[in-house]
Amino acid sequence: MPGYPVKNKMEMDMRLILLGAPGAGKGTVAKLLTAMSGAVQISTGDILRAAVAAGTELGKKAEAAMKAGDLVSDDLIMGIMGERLKEDDCKKGYLLDGFPRTIPQAEALKVLMANIGEELDFVVNIDVPKDVILDRLTTRRTCTGCGAIYNVKSNPPKEEGKCNDCGGSVVQRDDETEEAISNRLDVYNEKTAPLAGFYEKEGMLLTVSATSSDAVIEAIEERLGATA
Ligand code: ADP
Ligand code: ZN
Repeated sequence: MPGYPVKNKMEMDMRLILLGAPGAGKGTVAKLLTAMSGAVQISTGDILRAAVAAGTELGKKAEAAMKAGDLVSDDLIMGIMGERLKEDDCKKGYLLDGFPRTIPQAEALKVLMANIGEELDFVVNIDVPKDVILDRLTTRRTCTGCGAIYNVKSNPPKEEGKCNDCGGSVVQRDDETEEAISNRLDVYNEKTAPLAGFYEKEGMLLTVSATSSDAVIEAIEERLGATA
């Protein structure tokens, strides 16, 4: 409408779930979306790693499961998310990265969101071939300071081992040994992959088969445009 500012579709409050195997690019897509919108990225993995690093009660409870590439209990995760979703920065939307990861978590999230009067927009299922995933996970490096993600082959930090953004140390995660990676993928297939069917039934699933995060963003923009 002339004279009125055109509302960018990314300016709407979005509430999305990013679903996909470890290494599918959930974190990268979430970071791109936060830069384009008011939504915050909520990564249960980042929250848990921070708790482990700080040595909190939560961290102590989660550490062993994480190191082995197993899931942390649903109760612990729902405790974290119940608090997190009530924080003020969630008012302008959120991108759930790495949560929910089990059917019980998805059911509990539904109740939680209904209680705070919020609705999910849709669920982005990032579908990446297994060989690409394996290659990415073994070459992935993470900043212990800010969570920035690097890749020793395709996107190394400018100075080896040092984050471009915050100067923190860029390392291979504890759960990114070959053994833990293979366990994480098995756990994903068994516990998390069924969520695609769960959200499909709810009419909320957007599956994107793409290895580039730009392509994923485009598909999300298209869906936002279509439902706005
Ligand atoms: P990924 O790269 O596998 O997506 P994340 O950073 O999301 O890794 O998670 C790292 C680890 O933290 C998982 O392997 C698991 O032990 C734990 N974790 C994170 N989110 C959840 C969750 N929603 N439910 C249970 N465990 C979780
Ligand atoms: Zn950093």
